[in-house]
Amino acid sequence: MANSTLGLENQLYDYLLSISLREPDILAALREETAQHPMGMMQIAPEQGQFMEMLVQLMGATKTLEIGVFTGYSSLCVALALPSNGKIIACDVSEEYTAIARRYWEAAGVANKISLQLGPAINTLDKLIAEGQAGTFDFAFIDADKENYEAYFERSLQLVRNGGLIVIDNVLWSGRVADPEVQDTSTTALRSFNNKLRNDPRITLSVVPIADGLTLALKRRWATMMQPEHHN
Ligand code: SAM
Ligand code: CA
Repeated sequence: MANSTLGLENQLYDYLLSISLREPDILAALREETAQHPMGMMQIAPEQGQFMEMLVQLMGATKTLEIGVFTGYSSLCVALALPSNGKIIACDVSEEYTAIARRYWEAAGVANKISLQLGPAINTLDKLIAEGQAGTFDFAFIDADKENYEAYFERSLQLVRNGGLIVIDNVLWSGRVADPEVQDTSTTALRSFNNKLRNDPRITLSVVPIADGLTLALKRRWATMMQPEHHN
């Protein structure tokens, strides 16, 4: 986990934040409260939240999905970037964590944009698919239990439209994915997930080294095979 960008030394990181971060007071207040929480490290980095706002606005997204809410920092970033008719279906299992999120959604005046679904996210996503909502989301953010990333990705890929974007957090996992000695279940799940996406012809792929590593997967209209060409 990392709630700041990996690999930048402090002076340069502080400079990056000083010239770029435009965090509204409500997000700063949520970040300060979350920093006091025993699990506060789970929150995304503020520069990452701002980057996600950029993505949502670039796409003109209105209907979005979030898998893993915690105290609500990422959902609040997205909600603030959405137009007034924008929606987030937000999935989490924790009443306790999301009570904090709800408080901030209310204070920021965006609670009407967010529909919180408490329960295992796989069940929520399967319900959305069964209700006929496949192909209707513009944007999805995956940031819950790493062992289920593949299941979340497959369901999100059904739920987003062609040209929709799936953003996946923690894909560099503080560097542990690159260390073959590390073999715990979250790390091996992330490694296997990253390897699968590398060769998935259904998406256009970019792995951005912001915060703890953020994968952008754009759903392609047509799955084009990506065999590398060999020129001898
Ligand atoms: N995106 C959040 C933010 O910006 O602060 C951080 C999310 S935190 C890393 C992961 C969240 O996933 C936790 O709040 C946890 O309760 C939730 N979670 C864990 N297992 C889950 C599951 N099976 N279904 C839904 N949510 C789950
Ligand atoms: Ca995360």
